[in-house]
Formats: sequence, structure tokens, C-alpha cells
Amino acid sequence: MEYRTNEKLAAQVSLLGYGCMRLPADPEGIIQEEEAKSLLLRALEAGVNYFDTAYGYLSGKSEEFVGRALAGVARERYYLATKLPVWLAHSWEDADRLFDEQRRRLQTDYFDFYLFHALNKERWTEMKTLGLVDWAMEKKREGSIRRLGFSFHDKYEVFEDILTAHSWDFCQIQFNYLDTRFQAGLKGYHLAERLGIPIVVMEPVKGGALANPPEDVAAPLRSAAPKASLASWAIRWAASRPNVLTVLSGMGTQEQLEDNLNQFQPFRPLDGEEEALVERAAEMLRAKVKNGCTGCAYCMPCPAGVNIPKNFEIWNLMAKTDDGRAAWRPWNMVIDESAKADHCVRCGKCLSLCPQKLPIPDDLARARAELDALPASPTGN
Ligand code: SF4
Ligand code: SF4
Repeated sequence: MEYRTNEKLAAQVSLLGYGCMRLPADPEGIIQEEEAKSLLLRALEAGVNYFDTAYGYLSGKSEEFVGRALAGVARERYYLATKLPVWLAHSWEDADRLFDEQRRRLQTDYFDFYLFHALNKERWTEMKTLGLVDWAMEKKREGSIRRLGFSFHDKYEVFEDILTAHSWDFCQIQFNYLDTRFQAGLKGYHLAERLGIPIVVMEPVKGGALANPPEDVAAPLRSAAPKASLASWAIRWAASRPNVLTVLSGMGTQEQLEDNLNQFQPFRPLDGEEEALVERAAEMLRAKVKNGCTGCAYCMPCPAGVNIPKNFEIWNLMAKTDDGRAAWRPWNMVIDESAKADHCVRCGKCLSLCPQKLPIPDDLARARAELDALPASPTGN
């Protein structure tokens, strides 16, 4: 395993981190505990020592599961990261209550890395009013928070405002080869680097989209490295940046885990030619995708019953074949009729919840029109 040593943080962190947002789960979203635990323990055995969760992941079940899965492992063997749901913390008392609940769920007295979750302009403004950074600094003085940071979803200008407002230990951003000019992006990465604040990478494979790009995008990558998975290009792109402390991957299967582990034993950064290949792939993809939904489900549940991420997943699938054929079956035979885009009543509830700032009702209307217009597939495939 490749490690990044950071003297300021007094930490040696595996360059591959475990994101516990996409663990194996059944269709109802119930975590498959035995399978998920064996994945976490296999990662640990292979040298992964950073486990990232959050109060709300997997409908609030991720923290409890991670607590149980790692209960038998010596606490010094791994770094535990979790996040305060700032939208539920309207006072220091709320924050204390949530923090204590997180310690109970995760069966620990302290967090190695603690983050304010999914900051944007509105949340940052409210946090400042409440003095939540001062609250967290008290926890840090007590020792129950070892390193303090934040995760982020908004425009670059907001990122700069937050990053320069406090001497953060680290920050977590969406960082992948497609999103270099989106949210914090490369500009945000470089600002953090100048300030000496290491980056924890989330969404390196953009919710799986970069693991399965359209064939014309994939072909040059495949021919350059026939044995490498397409996801490995995205993981290596992020991990090649020196100010990256760890790259979080939500490894939901043994195959994904082993593929990721292979890339860090030992890690080989992208060379100049490979960087150029990836940049070309990014340009082609930017010209294709319908919208930037990552499938995070922060917008759910929709009061009208629309499965927002599923609709966008199928819509984006259209981009994967020139005639959109790949989307016909999921649109006509898989997604429940009651969960389709046409049930959106434009209440607007989802808009402020989407970290990607997608115009959800408008995109749902476009998705429905385009998917309904797909020619019927004679084979049903
Ligand atoms: S705007 Fe549409 S998709 Fe969004 S929450 Fe309301 S009904 Fe659901
Ligand atoms: S629409 Fe936005 S909030 Fe909903 S799943 Fe997609 S990216 Fe996440």
C-alpha cells in the first residue's frame, strides 16, 4: 500500500481510503453486513487505514455498521473520519447531541478526522452565526476531534471563502478528471496546496460514471493499457496529485476492492502521455453527458415519489451508445412507472438539496421527453 505522510497532521494515511457510502446493500437499501464487513477487513489487511463515513450515509445506517465492523480491530490501526450534518445542528447543544450519538454509533471516544458535512454558502453562513467552528475547536482541545476539516459542494468562490476563513487541517472535495472546472475543481486543489491544506478526494470515479464510459471514450484508454480497468484511470488521475492525502473509493464489491488495491501495490502516478489521454477522454465525455448527477440521493425522498437519481442514471446511460439503445430497457422495463420523471410536481424541495446544483425538475422533464422518444427495442435489450 502507498501511504502519504503529513507531518503537520502527524498522520500516515493510505492513499486509497474506504468511502462507506456505497456498501453492498439489498434493493431496499439494507446493508449486507457480512459481505460489507469482509470487504472492510480485507481492505484493512491490505493496508487501507482510512475509513470515511457520515451521520446520514445509507439512511443513517453506515456509522453503526462501521462501528460494528471495526469493533474488533485495535483503534490505533485505522483513522476514522465522519461528518457533522450541519443542517441538523442549529445550536451547540444540537451539535453535542449529534456528536455523542456518532461516538456511540462508531464505538469510539474520538474521531481522527472530523468534518462539517457538505458545506455550501447557506450552510457556511449559518455555521458562522452559530459559531460551530469554535464548538469543534473545543472538541479538538478536549481530544475528541484530532483533525478538523469540511467537505464541500458549491462554487469555487465559496470554497475559497471557507478555506481561507480558518486554519483547517484538511478538506474533502469532489475531484475527478471530468470535474476539473466544477465546484472546487483544480483551482480549489491548487489553492489548498498553496495553503498547505491536504485534500481528501471524494467521487474520484464520479459515482461510477468514469468506470463505464461510452465505447469511443473507453477505446483509447483500453488500447493504452488493455489490462487496466477504466475506473483505474480515474483513481490514478486523482491519486497522482501530490497534495492529495487519500482518495476515497466506495468499494461495494470484492472485484472493485481488488482492482483498486492493485493500483496501490505499488502506486504508479500517470505519466505525461497518460495525462493527455485522460484529458482527451474528459473532453469527449463533457460533450456527451446529459447532466452531472452522481447518484448521491441527497435529494431523496421526493414527496411525489420520483426516483430522481434513477431517472438521471438512465438518462445519462443514453449517452453511452450513439442511438441511446442502452437506456431503452431500464426506462421501459426496469424503473417503476410511479418513480418516473413525469410524476414531478415541481415543488422545488429537491433543488436546494442537490450538491451538484442541478436544475432537477427541468432536467427531469428533458429526461422524460428524450427517453420516451427512444425507438422501441425489438429485442427488449
Ligand atoms: S421538484 Fe419534482 S422531483 Fe423535486 S422534490 Fe419536487 S416533485 Fe420531487
Ligand atoms: S440529483 Fe443531485 S442530489 Fe439527487 S442524486 Fe443526483 S446529484 Fe445527488
